[in-house]
Amino acid sequence: MSSPPSPREPDDLPPFVAFASRHSAVIFFLLLLAVAGFEGVALFAAKRRDARNSAAAPAQTADAVYHNARVWTGDSVQPAAEALVVREGRLLYVGSSDSAARYAGPNTVVLDLEGRRVVPGFIDAHWHLSTTSSADLIGAGSVAEIASRLAAWATGRANDSWILGRGWTATDFPDRQPHRRHLDVVYPDRPVLLTDRDGHQVVVNSAALRLAGVTRTTPDPSGGRIVRDADGQATGVLQESAAALVRRLVPPPTRADIARRIDELSRDAAALGITMVQEMSGRAPRGEVFDALREAAEADTLRLRWYVSVPFTPDVTDSVLQRHVALADSLRGPWLRFWVAKGMLDGTVDARTAAMLSPYVGTADRGLPFMTDAALRRGVQRYDSAGLQVALHAIGDRAIRQALDAFEAARRTNGVRDTRHRIEHVEVPDPRDVPRFRTLGVVASTQALFATPDVTTLQNYAPLLGPERAARSNHFKQFDDAGVVQAFGSDHPVFPMQVMRGIHVAVNRTTVEGTPRGGWYPDGRITLEAALRHFTRDAAYAAFLDGQVGILRTAMLADFVVLDRDPFAMPTDSLFTVQVERTVVGGRTSYLRGATVGASPAERPTRPR
Ligand SMILES: [Zn+2]
Repeated sequence: MSSPPSPREPDDLPPFVAFASRHSAVIFFLLLLAVAGFEGVALFAAKRRDARNSAAAPAQTADAVYHNARVWTGDSVQPAAEALVVREGRLLYVGSSDSAARYAGPNTVVLDLEGRRVVPGFIDAHWHLSTTSSADLIGAGSVAEIASRLAAWATGRANDSWILGRGWTATDFPDRQPHRRHLDVVYPDRPVLLTDRDGHQVVVNSAALRLAGVTRTTPDPSGGRIVRDADGQATGVLQESAAALVRRLVPPPTRADIARRIDELSRDAAALGITMVQEMSGRAPRGEVFDALREAAEADTLRLRWYVSVPFTPDVTDSVLQRHVALADSLRGPWLRFWVAKGMLDGTVDARTAAMLSPYVGTADRGLPFMTDAALRRGVQRYDSAGLQVALHAIGDRAIRQALDAFEAARRTNGVRDTRHRIEHVEVPDPRDVPRFRTLGVVASTQALFATPDVTTLQNYAPLLGPERAARSNHFKQFDDAGVVQAFGSDHPVFPMQVMRGIHVAVNRTTVEGTPRGGWYPDGRITLEAALRHFTRDAAYAAFLDGQVGILRTAMLADFVVLDRDPFAMPTDSLFTVQVERTVVGGRTSYLRGATVGASPAERPTRPR
């Protein structure tokens, strides 16, 4: 592959910067320094003008001025500000309210934020687009609650269509035994399929089993299990590959369904302050999801920025790699980007499929890596040489080491470049491997909510690891202490995409109810600032967008969130209660609490260039 263009080269930077980055990363860096220096001078000059009470107006008027705010910029050069000035989707000025006022012209929308806290737009670095809508069953707690959530979801859906849900755990059912009879009572005829929280099993009703032709004589498919009663009848619980017996009957979403779904999930995300998602499903670069996203990007109707992944396959051919690079080049806009190949190296701790260096407690089982070392190295080397980023799902210490070894080998062969390879989840690293992330420039892509000390964590996850390994699992502090870039995500829909809830868990290491008191392995707690950084600046870095989003600085894209209360001025045990009042992406308001976005002139979108 002959010198692929640098992924850091964005079309949407000012032309001189784009030109420089095309020619030399060094020039690019020097220019950034120059711009930063210039900006410092400009700020200084603005302050002097203020001091002299000069009336000189800036050359450009703003589309919007947000003033009287408490801005946490995430920018070490200027950590705090009072005002953000937006023009054509970018920040024209970040600084004092007085100076910001000078940018207001007759058509400028001026908003007094009344002292509210503003932070950069949240970036979810590990997220999945679930293309089929289903009822959210997370935390249901009982069969009655499951039934009521299903009923609410089914409102307005055709009577002959499937009832779909996702997110149950065994503890939602009596005696921890999910069974079709719980569903048959409510839905005797309409097929029901409910996926568990981790996606490894489903429970279906009798109507669904009938449609699938599953009887007492149906054998277990390979790699799956039809759970049966004592008399041999299927209970409705179908594990691993057996779930496909029923799942394949659910009609696939149409193109229109997918477009609606993208819009629906984007609204949900915007309401939580999210301005960008990194879609880590490793979907093929063609197909309906991709087409729908591309169409929406072209029609300029996306509410979120998207960074999307293609699948990582160790035996990828040159022609496929060339197609990926061409695709990446064609998707450079600020709304839809692609530069990453996503692969899976192991499973999960709860299912005992995460690949470990030593066995799970009470078993001889160490899980199993999904790829051989040789195949993985070969694959990583190929993507790396094409200049593509590789993101590997690795949860167990064995799989994490395998990934780091492969990244190291690629570096030896292909040389040191700004590839920003990532390890997804990276839940239980061996302590000896933690410093290697920094040495090798690998991003730790962790999920704040994975550290939630709930029943599953305390009664299944931790006992399987044993105290020594549990104490350092989802331990975000160890990466911060080692100077590793750590990007936070949710793994939606496995966990909810609630950023403030994630921050709450990372800072407290308790559930939102405050248990266990004092926190679960509290030495893993991180500061509020660090948690915010992982959801903003570091997540931007993980997608090569650190020059554009993730901090609030002049010339960067205007992505920010107005919060209803100030997380810096409240007890940390109530961080999860902070809500989003307004979300702005590329200068457009994508969410405004209590309002229909797009209706008033204040919400008039301004198209970023
Ligand atoms: Zn995931």
